[in-house]
Amino acid sequence: MNMPVKEMLFGDAWEYAPAPESTGHAHYEKRYGHFIDGKFVDAKSYMKSVNPATEEVLFEFGVGTEADVDKAVQAARRAFEGPWGKMGGRERSKYIYRIARMIQEKARELAILETLDGGKPIKESRDVDIPLAAAHFFYYAGWADKLEYAFPGTNPRPLGVAGQVIPWNFPLLMAAWKIAPALATGNTVVLKAAETTPLTAMKLAEIIQEAGLPPGVVNFVNGAGATGAAIVNHPDINKIAFTGSTGVGKIIQRAVAGTGKRLTLELGGKGANIVFEDAPLEQAIEGIVNGIYFNQGHVCCAGSRLLVQESVADEVVAKLERRIKTLVVGDPLDKNTDVGAINSKEQLDRITEMVGIGEAEGAVRHSAPCELPSKGYFFAPTFFTDVSQSHRIAQEEIFGPVLSVLTFRTPEEAIEKANNTPYGLGSGIWTDKGSKMFRVAGALQAGVVWGNTYNKFDPGSPFGGHKESGFGREGGRQGLLAYLEVS
Ligand code: NAD
Ligand code: MN
Repeated sequence: MNMPVKEMLFGDAWEYAPAPESTGHAHYEKRYGHFIDGKFVDAKSYMKSVNPATEEVLFEFGVGTEADVDKAVQAARRAFEGPWGKMGGRERSKYIYRIARMIQEKARELAILETLDGGKPIKESRDVDIPLAAAHFFYYAGWADKLEYAFPGTNPRPLGVAGQVIPWNFPLLMAAWKIAPALATGNTVVLKAAETTPLTAMKLAEIIQEAGLPPGVVNFVNGAGATGAAIVNHPDINKIAFTGSTGVGKIIQRAVAGTGKRLTLELGGKGANIVFEDAPLEQAIEGIVNGIYFNQGHVCCAGSRLLVQESVADEVVAKLERRIKTLVVGDPLDKNTDVGAINSKEQLDRITEMVGIGEAEGAVRHSAPCELPSKGYFFAPTFFTDVSQSHRIAQEEIFGPVLSVLTFRTPEEAIEKANNTPYGLGSGIWTDKGSKMFRVAGALQAGVVWGNTYNKFDPGSPFGGHKESGFGREGGRQGLLAYLEVS
């Protein structure tokens, strides 16, 4: 006899007691200027960073001028032509290992500060962001004295001064992705953190100071877009590395054209997470949730388009509808929280606008009926069904906890729909069949394809885009090339 299968869902069976992480031992200054030539220096003017979960001002940070950027570039040039440039790879690696170990030692404090400044759940900053940041420094420390083995017979040489501009979704981790390979290859750095999340960059500056790196090897100039543009346009910078929106990436590519500066761009995405009818569906549901609700969906490689085979679409949608009700949304410092605060008011407005557009276009909205905190910037986990390929919510990056669900019948149709976007960064495939996995993976225009998982990162694995998601690779042996001249 066929008994109706009753699903076992425990996620909403209990009310969790609050489990807030204590913040008592996490220290930060009330004001940061810039970090130039090994010293913290004052700024001409300041702006404020808030905690997006409470809307409280946490601290002030400097707004870098062209003169500040110039000082930082000069310091980086002196360090490149002086001690750092003359140091061998073996010596450089000791400094990079030291940074890695100090990140580990301060991991708890860094995780709390990342969560306070940016709104991401403490369990993510604690278990993902900070450990991966340390892992990147460890990984590239290991390459510093082996560059001639990484690219044999090419006489690998550093480029000089690298200008780096990073976004707010993984603040310390993006700083690590940029700084670790630059140092391993013998370059020096001028980096600007994003204007909503500069706190862990300032803590990294303290670590770099304490680790005894020669002054000027790593400089941090704070500020917003204009400061980023001053870095991009500085004539004495040899390489620009940027992660952020495709719009700004295009501006930078035009600005750098013809200057001889090397460029890598890691931009937006609209990742396809493809679920075939033979997939392990319960696991796929977890992968879909991880793909779009991890870090509130502020992930460039997020699986923000779910492509599900028609034969299992109803079942997947019903399971997903039940699963998002069990996500704990709220205080990012609570260890039970799955979905924290949206990074800024501007980002919340952008998400709200895109969801309104989705509804106006006729897609059907499913939002978790959770109670959102009265203060702070929050958005309920949401997905849309009845989405067609031409809908803006199927084409444009939303960068929030909002998924668009589309269906397909054949693997060919899945591939065609997955590739039908200007982007090409992350994607996922869920199937029990290995041959199908490899065939579809080979046909996807995406820098990363995950198989029966999603959003897994490792410093040994190169990451980067196709098409409007940018070019160049970060991570792995390939990530060294972005900072080397090879002949
Ligand atoms: P953004 O591209 O404006 O900002 C990213 C970084 O670039 C920040 O440090 C910013 O100060 C700096 N910047 C801004 N204008 C600049 C310029 N003209 N020259 C040099 N640097 C400049 O991103 P945003 O406004 O914070 O977010 C907008 C959208 O971008 C998001 O909704 C999302 O779609 C996308 N985004 C993607 C990523 C990613 O990791 N790929 C990260 C953040 C945002
Ligand atoms: Mn902030």
